[in-house]
Amino acid sequence: MMNAANPPSEPRVQLPAQRLIEIQRRLLAWFAEQGRDLPWRHTRDPYHILVSEIMLQQTQVDRVRPKYAAFLAQFPSLATLAAASPGDVIRAWSGLGYNRRALNLQRTAQAVLSEHGGRFPDTPERLRELPGIGPYTAGAVACFAFERDVAFMDTNIRRVLQRLFVGPETEPASERSLLAFAEAAVPAGNGWSWNQAIMELGALVCTAARPRCQLCPLRSECRAYATWSAADAAVFGEGSIYTQPPKVMRKVAERQASFTATPRYFRGRAVEALRRLPPGAWLTLDELGPRVKAGWTAAELPWLLNLLEGLANDALVVLDRETQQARLP
Ligand code: SF4
Repeated sequence: MMNAANPPSEPRVQLPAQRLIEIQRRLLAWFAEQGRDLPWRHTRDPYHILVSEIMLQQTQVDRVRPKYAAFLAQFPSLATLAAASPGDVIRAWSGLGYNRRALNLQRTAQAVLSEHGGRFPDTPERLRELPGIGPYTAGAVACFAFERDVAFMDTNIRRVLQRLFVGPETEPASERSLLAFAEAAVPAGNGWSWNQAIMELGALVCTAARPRCQLCPLRSECRAYATWSAADAAVFGEGSIYTQPPKVMRKVAERQASFTATPRYFRGRAVEALRRLPPGAWLTLDELGPRVKAGWTAAELPWLLNLLEGLANDALVVLDRETQQARLP
């Protein structure tokens, strides 16, 4: 089994064969019945898969779906994306957030064209040599475009593996251990379905704040469920249905509440304000400030400049320090 993130010196995990077969059988059957019909599940075109994977990182499926179609309509091939102006690519990314992903995607397209003659490498190791491709994306493209039986992890996969094989998040396993579980679990010859299925379970059922264990096909095999059920049985008596894991829920709520105070939030707002201008148009910082931060005052100009410096360093905006204006590249 190849692994998309680390060299093969990581700890090997021995899972009882019967338990593993049962887990695979249950999850694959559930996915065949309950998996969503998503456009990127109908293609093996590595460019399309790459676009979908980059968009899906930290963005909900429902927001990605129309954007994926529109992006591919505007940039139907690697060559059209590689040749586009960065401003057009950032504009096409509107509504997805994390705008740096758009430029990274374009850099990847340019590298596939210039270094590989337009043909994507098909192994995680070679995909990782491309700019903008990390271990997760390399594994996902190798698996979902080239049907390689590789193990890789995103937030959803990591969470399901943790709960299924280790226990609640209050007993966190190391990244290496989780990856070892991921490797051991991929069924030979069925990596595409397995990885789609485990991601889908994490998105629809084994969610961060409110795992819907009563609907989960893996409940009887799940360590976290056993722990939560035992804890509730001790308090409420045998046969009680377990309560939600309170620490997990609190963490998620805190994360959501604090997001609107983060630099990332304000960076996104600045790019969004510039994206609404016609191509090539500038906005002065005095005009931009109130569009970025409610209650903005001129005293916050140094803060705004600092924010824009960061965006300019990431090539997401062009900043004219002398005239104090900004625009998209
Ligand atoms: S039983 Fe609950 S915690 Fe375990 S994998 Fe299913 S949804 Fe997740």
